[in-house]
Amino acid sequence: MFRSVFLAAAGSSRLGRLVSSASLSKNVAHRFVAGDDVEAALVAARELADDGLAVTVDHLAPETTTADQARATRDEYVTLLGRLKTAGLTPAAEVSVKLSALGQRLDEKLAYDHALAVCAAAAEAGTSVTLDAEDHTSTDSTLEILSDLRKEYPSTGAVLQAYLRRTEGDCRELATAGSRVRLCKGAYPEPESVAFTDALDIDKSFVRCLNILMSGEGYPMVATHDPRLIAIAEDRARWFDRASDEFEFQMLYAMRVEEQARLAANGNIVRVYLPYGTEWYGYLLRRLAERPSTAVRFARRVPKKG
Ligand SMILES: Cc1cc2nc3c(=O)[nH]c(=O)nc-3n(C[C@H](O)[C@H](O)[C@H](O)COP(=O)(O)OP(=O)(O)OC[C@H]3O[C@@H](n4cnc5c(N)ncnc54)[C@H](O)[C@@H]3O)c2cc1C
Repeated sequence: MFRSVFLAAAGSSRLGRLVSSASLSKNVAHRFVAGDDVEAALVAARELADDGLAVTVDHLAPETTTADQARATRDEYVTLLGRLKTAGLTPAAEVSVKLSALGQRLDEKLAYDHALAVCAAAAEAGTSVTLDAEDHTSTDSTLEILSDLRKEYPSTGAVLQAYLRRTEGDCRELATAGSRVRLCKGAYPEPESVAFTDALDIDKSFVRCLNILMSGEGYPMVATHDPRLIAIAEDRARWFDRASDEFEFQMLYAMRVEEQARLAANGNIVRVYLPYGTEWYGYLLRRLAERPSTAVRFARRVPKKG
């Protein structure tokens, strides 16, 4: 029940303004987000790098409804990539980009052009871009743009969501040499017609997809905090004889920090998804949908006013 309430709220911009101004949500958000600006992202990225972790930095952009906003998001990423390079954080730090923030819903060509500029800035900085996956109505468009970007920038990463029924097929298509593919469960509210909605079915799909990616020729990026799936991924890496630099684990900033350290200490590449920016509302609610206990825990800690 909590999950659907949080996910519905994540899609409401009016509720977003209300929640963003509440001190409780700010307190919770600041646990999961590096801070408001590039400076904060650089500080957090440096700390993670010092701990031996790789990073993918995500700028939490507002819902893009105008070409100006899309351009501003592109410029933010170009600046971010320049700063990551100057700080000596590349290639360990890459960036994650949502095409919707680059104007995908306004004009796909515009989003492609902006994504191309971000990929060019990433190449200049000696690193790569990964295109986040959003709701299923954008999947075809995102994969088409990915395929076009890869013609010039083959290291551009894809994200596939195990809860979508189509994803096993997409894994087969994308498990090719040099193809970086992040596999996650999926974080958006989706209908039965396109997605598995039962947790066990999603896990089974995740494992089928993992088998395809681990046995394929690409570079799997296993994005989960789920202990069972992490153990299965470790097992598959051994089974398919993958060296530790031939796949990686990914987790969200501030989630299962000890597990991140354990995996890294065992010689694995562990990449932390590091969001920053003032528009943390949708991100926060997707995290709370996954773990409502977080909201309850933080609500108890934050002192009441007055
Ligand atoms: C790096 C990264 C990038 C992502 N990118 C995208 C994207 O582009 N598009 C998208 O739709 N989604 C994305 N996601 C979100 C993803 O789809 C899931 O919604 C999210 O990761 C929760 O699923 P889970 O696999 O971590 O396990 P869950 O199903 O949330 O949890 C399974 C089990 O794992 C354990 N667990 C989980 N979290 C914790 C915790 N914090 N502490 C202790 N135990 C815990 C618990 O035992 C829990 O029962 C991304 C996730 C990651 C990690």
